[in-house]
Amino acid sequence: MEMEEVDCPLCEGSKGKPLHREGSFQMVRCPLCQFVFLNPRPTRDSLFHFYQTYLPEEESSIESWEKMIKSVFHRAANLLKQYRRNGRLLDVGTGFGFFLAEMKKRGWEVMGVEISPKGIDYGRNVLELAIHPGPLEKAAFPDDYFDAVTGFYVIEHLPHPIAFLKECYRVLKPGGLLLLRYPHTTPIKNLLKLLGIKNCLYDLPAHLSDFSPKMIQGCLEKVGFGKCQHLIGGYTLPYDLGKRTASIFFGSLSEVLFYLSLRKILLPGVSKTIFAFKMEKA
Ligand SMILES: [Zn+2]
Repeated sequence: MEMEEVDCPLCEGSKGKPLHREGSFQMVRCPLCQFVFLNPRPTRDSLFHFYQTYLPEEESSIESWEKMIKSVFHRAANLLKQYRRNGRLLDVGTGFGFFLAEMKKRGWEVMGVEISPKGIDYGRNVLELAIHPGPLEKAAFPDDYFDAVTGFYVIEHLPHPIAFLKECYRVLKPGGLLLLRYPHTTPIKNLLKLLGIKNCLYDLPAHLSDFSPKMIQGCLEKVGFGKCQHLIGGYTLPYDLGKRTASIFFGSLSEVLFYLSLRKILLPGVSKTIFAFKMEKA
């Protein structure tokens, strides 16, 4: 894989200071804005090739994938319903298209963007969905076009997260809603390092960055989004029993803490969902 050294993807002010290593990959922290990112990271071309084979092909793996993520999609669909009953929805990095299929069933007009050929093929031919081969910027959707844009486990894969958020903002109608689901791994990495436990939790080089809730909300607000609201939003059910048990335990624990604390405590280290709105112009 061809790698390149980059400046901080958020503030461009530093190449970052070493934070954690996984094999030959290194996560760094920007001393200026505290953003955690992979540096050096794969070049654009390397990333493109990497995603050509990122999703599994066998029917059984696709089924496990669906089982793993289903409850998160279900929760997200119910959360969305609190704000919008239906409308036009775009899911970026839609994978096989399972979330779109769920939303279509619920009466939404749906569209997806996906760069993995296996995902595109499955979404189009098996689930009969409209999938653009991406990336999002190339789809050139009109301004103010969607009522909702969603991105599940996408932002941590992107070399230019701010450009992505700006594009989401542009294609959303005023009052439209953005839902992002993202992992937050650094607190667990810090803990495991203290305990001397080796792990590959960052999932490098697939993940190019690791957003904290504060960091992601700051980026959304900078781009123009408002009324940002964090939620735990359920947990995934990985096929591996150990991972599944951990996911259920920490997912449930974080959910209980969140509600007991009256929506104040967001347990560090677990995946989270954030809602944000494109504010109507005064
Ligand atoms: Zn920075």
